Amino acid sequence: MSMHASAKNFPALVLNADFRPLSYYPLSLWNWQETVKAVFLDRVNIVSEYDRCVRSPNFEMRLPSVVSLKTYVKPALYPAFTRFNVFLRDKFSCQYCGCKSDLTFDHLIPRSRGGQTRWDNVVTACAPCNLAKGGLMPEHAGMRPMQWPYRPTVFELHRNGRLFPPNYLHESWLDHLYWDTELEP
Ligand SMILES: [Zn+2]
Repeated sequence: MSMHASAKNFPALVLNADFRPLSYYPLSLWNWQETVKAVFLDRVNIVSEYDRCVRSPNFEMRLPSVVSLKTYVKPALYPAFTRFNVFLRDKFSCQYCGCKSDLTFDHLIPRSRGGQTRWDNVVTACAPCNLAKGGLMPEHAGMRPMQWPYRPTVFELHRNGRLFPPNYLHESWLDHLYWDTELEP
């Protein structure tokens, strides 16, 4: 389960039973309806709450802003292959010229030559570089990426993700998202 974070949905950050986020990319968030349901099914502990309450004739509760699973789930080693995650791997910069605007994706081996849309063949490229390379192989275009594309681990994306935090972060999430920053060399 995942969603785009916005304050309107009162999303809850979902932690694993070890109090680390269940997933970083995308960030593990449930909308408030999913969260309340999980509380009633006794699948989660409430770690932190919003000021906002939900009421029905029989009960009233504050909406959770952070919950933790009661049962540990083994986290994935590799993140999902998504547009955002490719940008994040490449630190939101064109792999040919280094610029950070007008970003698109380039197939290193062009699709017209059998190049596939996967981690090891897609790089972040600005629109002008993408146009310049066109359907050429890297060596024919004289354009080599600064970093050969690869499938990153969740850990590697998380390292880059500290440089590019999501647009919406509730204050109660911060401790859980960045508590281990100091451990970085
Ligand atoms: Zn470029």
